[in-house]
Amino acid sequence: MLYFVFTIDGDWKEYFELKLKDEERLPKEGVLLDLVQREIDLADKVLKGRFIHFIHTSPLARDFFLEKNFRKLWKDVLKNNGDAGLHCHEDYYYQDASRMKKTISAGVSLFKKSGLDVKCYRGGFLGFSKDMVRILEGNKIHFDFSCEPGRFLKHEDTLIADWRGAPEHQYRMSYDNHCQSGDSKVWEIPLGTSQGKSLYFEKSSIEDIEKIALDLKEQSIENKIDIVASVLSHTYEFESVERIKNIEKNLTALKKYGTFINLKELEKYLWKNGKGSFPTP
Ligand SMILES: [Zn+2]
Repeated sequence: MLYFVFTIDGDWKEYFELKLKDEERLPKEGVLLDLVQREIDLADKVLKGRFIHFIHTSPLARDFFLEKNFRKLWKDVLKNNGDAGLHCHEDYYYQDASRMKKTISAGVSLFKKSGLDVKCYRGGFLGFSKDMVRILEGNKIHFDFSCEPGRFLKHEDTLIADWRGAPEHQYRMSYDNHCQSGDSKVWEIPLGTSQGKSLYFEKSSIEDIEKIALDLKEQSIENKIDIVASVLSHTYEFESVERIKNIEKNLTALKKYGTFINLKELEKYLWKNGKGSFPTP
């Protein structure tokens, strides 16, 4: 069987416009509340509410998305079959284990104070390092969504992410190498990929999406395995009605090939049904 997890990274467009002054890069509450509501409405309409919103936290906007009005939205997401995760934009510092450890522990306790349990994580720009496996496990985060198999990203001399050689299907990460399966308690759920393309909505056409889904489906049938692939979109895409329609079209196409599941369902399959259902590669 083929399963999908629909994920949305909670970034807004000004965040990436580094030429702006910091105060001009800040998120605007009214706009962002509206965009997240659009995410909830779309997930409700197409996936019975199943999606993960990865809550942005960064030096620029550390606890902005945990203010009262947003907390109410996250609770609505959870009530409605969805999930909320942690999305750390510690840009250029993803390899700095002590900084990442501090940021993630602080993030988790901040979320807890706001009544949110953090069960899943995705690095900004899909940034990651091998030390992250223990950091996530130490914070009881057992699902990571940072992997795009094959991704290698640097900013000047600074490494952001190196996912070269990572398995293309879900795996328990090794403590020594995040691109290998091993015995940590952190599952990696990679972005669905095939032949250099991925289920990264912004970068792939509907034809790409269908081809990837078909390839994954065939792999699952041929190898008699269950595959879970993540699907990636961003909050800023919800600014345009046309782009929302496009996301809806992509999700509807994916439903022909696989079933969308939420974190609770994923957890049940991976841990409780355990080895019988999802073999570790
Ligand atoms: Zn991001």
